[in-house]
Amino acid sequence: MQCSDTAQANGDPLAQGDRRQQADEQDAPRCDSCGSGHLERAHVEMAFWSGDRMVLVEGVPALICNRCGEQYTEDQTAMRLDRLRAADFRDAQQTGERRVPVFTYPKGA
Ligand SMILES: [Zn+2]
Repeated sequence: MQCSDTAQANGDPLAQGDRRQQADEQDAPRCDSCGSGHLERAHVEMAFWSGDRMVLVEGVPALICNRCGEQYTEDQTAMRLDRLRAADFRDAQQTGERRVPVFTYPKGA
C-alpha cells in the first residue's frame, strides 16, 4: 500500500510531451520508470493520511504501466486529490469504512 504524497510524487508522462515513439507500437504513452511498458488507463485505490486518520479513495483515474506496474496520476487528478485532502475529504462522499491490520516492524530484522 502506498502512503500519502503518492499523487504528487508521480509525474505525468502525458503532459511532458515525451514521445519516444516506436514504429511498431501504438501512440500509447511510455512508462518513465521502466522505459518499455505502456501506460493503460485504470481506476485505482489510493491511501492518504488526513490528519491522524488514514483514508482510502476508490475509483481514482490513473495510468498504470503494463510491464512494471508503476502508477501515474494526471495533473488534473492530482490537483483534485489535493483539493480533497485540503478539505479533509468533506467534498467527497464516504462510501464505506475498513479496518486495517497494524504491524510493528520486527526487532533485529
Ligand atoms: Zn513501467
